[in-house]
Amino acid sequence: MIEDMGYDVIVGGGLCGLTTGFLLAKNRRNCLLLEKGDDVGGLARSFVFDDIIFDVGPHVLYENDSDRGTLFLKKMLGDSEVIKRPFRYAIISGDKIYKVPFMLEPLFYPWRFKAEIFGMFFKLITSGAPEASVCQAIESRFGKSFYKSVFEPFIKKKTGYSGEKLHMDWLARPGRDINNIKKIPNRKGRADLLKQLKNFFTSRDYEYPIKGYGEYARHIHHAYQYAGGKTILNCGHISLNCSDSVLDSISVSGKKYPVKNLVWTASVNELNSLLNAKSIIAPYIKSFYVFLTYNGKRNGQREFLYTYHPQKETLFARIYYPDNIYGDYSPRHKEGICLEINHYPEIENMTEQEIIDACVRDVEKLGLFKSSKFRHSSIISIKESMPVYGLDYEVIMEKIFAAQKKYSNIYSIGRTGRFCFCMSPAAVEQGIEMAEHILVKKNIF
Ligand SMILES: Cc1cc2nc3c(=O)[nH]c(=O)nc-3n(C[C@H](O)[C@H](O)[C@H](O)COP(=O)(O)OP(=O)(O)OC[C@H]3O[C@@H](n4cnc5c(N)ncnc54)[C@H](O)[C@@H]3O)c2cc1C
Repeated sequence: MIEDMGYDVIVGGGLCGLTTGFLLAKNRRNCLLLEKGDDVGGLARSFVFDDIIFDVGPHVLYENDSDRGTLFLKKMLGDSEVIKRPFRYAIISGDKIYKVPFMLEPLFYPWRFKAEIFGMFFKLITSGAPEASVCQAIESRFGKSFYKSVFEPFIKKKTGYSGEKLHMDWLARPGRDINNIKKIPNRKGRADLLKQLKNFFTSRDYEYPIKGYGEYARHIHHAYQYAGGKTILNCGHISLNCSDSVLDSISVSGKKYPVKNLVWTASVNELNSLLNAKSIIAPYIKSFYVFLTYNGKRNGQREFLYTYHPQKETLFARIYYPDNIYGDYSPRHKEGICLEINHYPEIENMTEQEIIDACVRDVEKLGLFKSSKFRHSSIISIKESMPVYGLDYEVIMEKIFAAQKKYSNIYSIGRTGRFCFCMSPAAVEQGIEMAEHILVKKNIF
């Protein structure tokens, strides 16, 4: 029999919240999932626009990774059809194209890059000195010249910050457990280093559900509901009713629900505000995603899943090409692209239409599509797309989470709940660990 003493309430129906919800519901807990949007998935949502399937956020799940998050996602997808592609992107700097993974490309780089890169590898393998900033981490692998010419403008465009001001963890993206303990040390010895280098030099395949990355979320949600979990979409404002150190109930959509545990996977800033915590705000970059479709299609499938454009002349930092995924499965006479624009003072005063118009002009400038071939556009903004990890981010993190520590049954996890720069498998892993923690926790009510 399902326990009826109160709910495990999960706020946020992204991959992290869905994973926790499903595992708890499967273990006969009374679950209530609250999602502010009209569908689940969070960033892991896909949609059809002008006959082309686009994703909002993630596209890449590596075929051969064997962490718990990846295995969980694959298991939940069951035997649905997936497409497999070699993962490749490029940084386009002026008239030069730097492909990642590099494969044999560095052999054709200018001599000064080549000499530094090979020199640095040798030094790194023999010394392994610790790095603090993104700048140091990249310089120690690829040398100063390559960093300055290629990576520095790339990072500036992606984040608005210079690599010297960003903590190395912004690049390394270490996992965090539900107590916010960092899981992966920056360097785990030479074996780890060699693995990292291998990933830069050899190609790996990614696999992708044929109806879009959002299929992972849809499948988990379906399993959650099948296991008896309840969902409220478009949930509206949530209020928390706490006594001293416990959250007793939540009020949402005009009803009050007694709470056993609250698993918060929405923004930690919002949670702190609901708790009236006078905390500092977790800093995030705001991004716009502009979806454009065009008449006409190039011959042959695109080589890159995305290209980065660090030069100042274009508004966007990155273009992603669904055609790299779909190839022959996509419409024959048109193509879609998605442009990522990170929030700069320059676009502060631009309307959404002005942003779209500037993108269409920049796409033509790059020689990608003529404006006369333009069909349709759509734009979304994501207020908290990437966390900003300054050099002192761990001190800031402590302060952000101080207020919540007071409550024995409130947990804040996931991409924005944990102020965590994580990929989907890591968000799922947090969801799994959260469910495991609740399932063995002594019931205090
Ligand atoms: C541009 C981009 C590209 C990425 N590419 C990849 C990739 O290729 N591969 C990969 O593995 N990862 C990628 N990631 C990371 C991946 O998207 C995330 O790690 C993962 O989707 C995070 O899941 P989550 O559940 O923690 O958060 P989210 O997906 O953000 O889910 C949070 C949910 O909470 C809901 N919510 C917010 N506020 C409230 C509220 N007040 N009440 C109720 N609900 C609320 C939101 O609507 C949302 O559904 C990418 C991320 C970005 C931004």
